[in-house]
Amino acid sequence: MKNNHIPTFKENVDAFVLKASKALKLSDDLIDHIRTTHSVLQVNVGIKIKNKIENFTGWRAVHSEHRLPSKGGIRYSADVNQDETEALAALMTYKCAVVDIPFGGSKGSLKIDPKKYSEQELKSITHIYAEKLIKKGFLSPAINVPAPDVGTGEREMVWIMDAYKNLFPNDINYLACVTGKPIAYGGIRGRAQATGRGVEESIREYLRHEQLYKRTKLNPNLSKNTIVIQGFGKVGKSLAEELFTRDHAKIIAIGEYNGYLYNEKGIDIALLLKHFDKTKNFKNFKGAKFIEKPADVLTIACDILIPAAMESVINRANVNEIKTKLIVEAANGPVTYNADEILHKKGIDVLPDIYVNSGGVVVSYFEWVKNITHVRFGRLQRRYEENKMNELIQVIEDATGRSIPEKYKNNVIHGAQEIDLVNSGLEDVMRETFKEILKNMKNLKKVSLRTAAYAIALNKLKQYHKDMGVSNAH
Ligand code: NAD
Repeated sequence: MKNNHIPTFKENVDAFVLKASKALKLSDDLIDHIRTTHSVLQVNVGIKIKNKIENFTGWRAVHSEHRLPSKGGIRYSADVNQDETEALAALMTYKCAVVDIPFGGSKGSLKIDPKKYSEQELKSITHIYAEKLIKKGFLSPAINVPAPDVGTGEREMVWIMDAYKNLFPNDINYLACVTGKPIAYGGIRGRAQATGRGVEESIREYLRHEQLYKRTKLNPNLSKNTIVIQGFGKVGKSLAEELFTRDHAKIIAIGEYNGYLYNEKGIDIALLLKHFDKTKNFKNFKGAKFIEKPADVLTIACDILIPAAMESVINRANVNEIKTKLIVEAANGPVTYNADEILHKKGIDVLPDIYVNSGGVVVSYFEWVKNITHVRFGRLQRRYEENKMNELIQVIEDATGRSIPEKYKNNVIHGAQEIDLVNSGLEDVMRETFKEILKNMKNLKKVSLRTAAYAIALNKLKQYHKDMGVSNAH
């Protein structure tokens, strides 16, 4: 993309797709079909608030329905628009294909600043928005399943589920109409942390491969690299916590919308979480310096830079100021196409969003499966496994005449609970997908990690169309 035109979010996603399509030599008609949004619903949510009618525009875009349900979050923000919603829906298609989750791609959005409304007002607004999507066939356990995104969370997901249940009380699978719910409403353990933990797994996996960390001069020991994160919302917070507690990572800066915290020795994330949960603000945190220049967090010199807030933040205007070795796209679309080209030429690796932040949809898939099977993972086999391990230990002790110390016994005997299985499934997906990306990088020669990831997705979508018969494309 050239000249003065600033590409839209959807144009950026399309440019990445076209690049991978060229590397794979896919035909123009097939790729045009794959990258086109299949349907978009626009709704108006009109509601009387404090004696005045307010109108909120909302969208639900279905990028693909080659597999059902189509899956994708709902975003509440004053800045959303149709192009952004379509771009995010498209990313969901490629993301699900890369990590082999059997869903199509979708996304929803509502043009609203949620901070300006009370909980009761947001509940009513969400109910109306959800009802409109449901009545038009854009929300149901079988066809289209939302999840949280920017500005929404577990609370909104329960309200959406409630709206669906009210309209279809006979649907035994009503819990599966939305994911990212609290545990009491059919949610799954580990979903709230899943996106952050998946991002962490992607960094761990990168650092397991010598040809990658040597090329970018990163230390294979995660804790020896300096890290900067932009965004301390659902994804940024859980990511920072996982990196801090599990990897002892040195996070030197974290950005929010009003500024960033900086401590060259590393920020104590446990203390920051306590402070932030209480004050909802970085200001007055004793463990780091607060600098009121939010955009500058991206240009701090560091080993690993993790944008975890919003799209297009690394672009033509600031790409040459970026001083890092690896960018890890926890947010959707944080690096524009033009910036990505420049970073690739400079030898800065970018771990792409469609792989990096897929932990959310991976664990959403587990939640959806739990909801339609109506049984918690681990419920049937946990005691059985524990009893068998007990027996095995008994056999070993009898045969050797020695007893195994209690501390080892407890670890070995412990049968898998839901959280163990969720985290194991997530780790497996992140590690296996990374290997696939590397295989594609090797086969396609000199392509970026992103192009290799898109190549996986496009090859799967191509196969789907071949099996279906292209003439049946819909
Ligand atoms: P969120 O609303 O919980 O958090 C976003 C955070 O970014 C907020 O704390 C906000 O104050 C902050 N922010 C806004 N503007 C900023 C700026 N200019 N500089 C720094 N911080 C800023 O949203 P989230 O769910 O954490 O999503 C973040 C990103 O991750 C989005 O791109 C989203 O699409 C993507 N994502 C989220 C999930 C998920 O499971 N929630 C899954 C995959 C991808």
